[in-house]
Amino acid sequence: MDYIGRFAPSPTGLLHIGSLLTAVASYADARSHGGKWLLRMEDLDPPREMTGAADHILHTLEQFGFEWDDEVAYQSQRHHLYRAALDELIENNHVYPCTCSRKMWQSQARVGVDGLVYNGACSQKNLFRLPENQNVAWRIRVPNQIIEFEDEIVGRYAQNLAQDIGDFVLRRADGFWAYQLAVVVDDFHQGVTHIVRGQDLLVSTPRQIHLQGCLNAPTPHYAHLPLLTNHLGQKWSKQTLAPALDLTAREAALRQVLAYLNVPPCPEIDAPRDILTWAIRHWDMARVPHHAICTET
Ligand code: GLU
Ligand code: ZN
Repeated sequence: MDYIGRFAPSPTGLLHIGSLLTAVASYADARSHGGKWLLRMEDLDPPREMTGAADHILHTLEQFGFEWDDEVAYQSQRHHLYRAALDELIENNHVYPCTCSRKMWQSQARVGVDGLVYNGACSQKNLFRLPENQNVAWRIRVPNQIIEFEDEIVGRYAQNLAQDIGDFVLRRADGFWAYQLAVVVDDFHQGVTHIVRGQDLLVSTPRQIHLQGCLNAPTPHYAHLPLLTNHLGQKWSKQTLAPALDLTAREAALRQVLAYLNVPPCPEIDAPRDILTWAIRHWDMARVPHHAICTET
């Protein structure tokens, strides 16, 4: 079977137990299918990044016994691919420049499923002869129809992008590339066939499927993992002060993650790499819980 999976951390902070769960599940799923597992550093947004985090993440993954295929891909070095994709979308009239200020459009906007829904004010304007130096955002037109897919963990998931999301930004006015564009372009170029990631990204998937269609890219297979939360039900993240993984307690963290993923417990004594091998051998996506898991009781 041709299987290419990936793990795509953002170096905005250090890896925590939630990131380890995503890494283990994507790794075990890929390897148990005889597939590749790629590593991609999503360093698109320098102001939000933490100095040294990218290297620390690689070191941590190594210490936990992960072995990735090919060279690590850095989004900061792939802007030419995002540019080419945007040019193709411009060519095919899938996108338009937007000169609205945030204040201007947000004051009237409806709430959708992931923030405010842009009203499309610029979509009908003929703004294609903009002076070179004007900073505009580029938005993609979205269809007023249901986009649905079958997630291996969550089941059927559907959105109407026009109603739930609105025309969304691919390149911000300040020149930054949006996550939605970068992730679709990279998964396409890297030949990713299976995406295993957290359920916080489920809400983004219909947008990514729409973009794939506009770029003639295949839609990968999706599995969105349960999130790990604190006692308040908040996803562990930098914002909720998730503690960084402790490199002196790797076995304990891996065993904990296997328990969350419903992998049978592995015998004592094992080094991190052996625990991962156990996870691969006993991997069964059907056993993964569907709903968020509280790690504090
Ligand atoms: N970089 C994203 C994150 O760390 C993951 C993107 C993805 O898996 O599509 O949340
Ligand atoms: Zn606009």
